Amino acid sequence: MGSAAERREELKAVWRQASSCTRCPQLASTRKTVVFGSGNADADLMFVGEAPGRSEDEQGVPFVGQAGRLLEKLLGEIGLERADVFIANVLKCRPPGNRDPLPQEIDACQDYLFRQLELIEPRVVCTLGNFSTKLLRADPATGITRLHGREEVRTIGPRAVRLYPIFHPAAALYTPKMLEVLRADFARLPELLALEPPPQPEPAEEELVVPEPEIVAAEPEPAAQLGLF
Ligand code: URA
Repeated sequence: MGSAAERREELKAVWRQASSCTRCPQLASTRKTVVFGSGNADADLMFVGEAPGRSEDEQGVPFVGQAGRLLEKLLGEIGLERADVFIANVLKCRPPGNRDPLPQEIDACQDYLFRQLELIEPRVVCTLGNFSTKLLRADPATGITRLHGREEVRTIGPRAVRLYPIFHPAAALYTPKMLEVLRADFARLPELLALEPPPQPEPAEEELVVPEPEIVAAEPEPAAQLGLF
C-alpha cells in the first residue's frame, strides 16, 4: 500500500462513500449519522465494536456513551488515549432500539470495515465482543467467552494481523467480575503491540480490480465529522 498520507486520503474517500450509504434501507432511514470510525488513521492498534448506540448516532463518533467512557479509562490505564488508536464498529449505522445487528446488515456493511483494516494497516486488531470477533475470525460458531484474551495471527483481506478478542466494555459496566477479566485482557495489549508485526502473506499475483464506488452527488462533508481521523 501507499504512504500513511495516501492511505488516509483513501480512507476519507471510503468515509465519504459510507456517509450516504443506503445498503440497509431500515438503518438508512432511522439513523441520524453514519458512524464511520475515529482516531489515528495510521494506528498500530484498532478496536472493532458492534454498532453505534444512541449517543454515537447523535455525535457521529464511536464509543462516546457509557461503554466508550469505560474503553477510554481502560486505554488510559495502559498509557494510551483515543487519538493513539482507531475505533470502528461492525455496523456503521445504529440499529433501532439498539437491537442486535442482523446477518444481512453485517454482510452489507462489512466491506467498509475490511477497507478500514486494509488502509489503516494496524498490527493488532482488538475485537470487542461477539459480533466483531465472529466476523473477523470468519467463525460464527466460536464465541467471545472461549476466545477472549487469546491472540492469534489471522489474515484479513490482504494483510496478516494479530487478532485479539476481548469482552465488549458494555458487558463489564455492571458486572465487577467481568470488569476484572476485561482489565486483565486489556493489560496484555502493550505486550502484543511490542511484538514484531506478523509476517505478511505474499501479495496476490494480479491485483484485484475493485470497481470504483459510484459517486451519486458531491455532498459537503458533515462538519461534525471533519477531522475525525
Ligand atoms: N457499542 C459499540 O459496539 N459501539 C459503539 O460505538 C458504542 C457502543
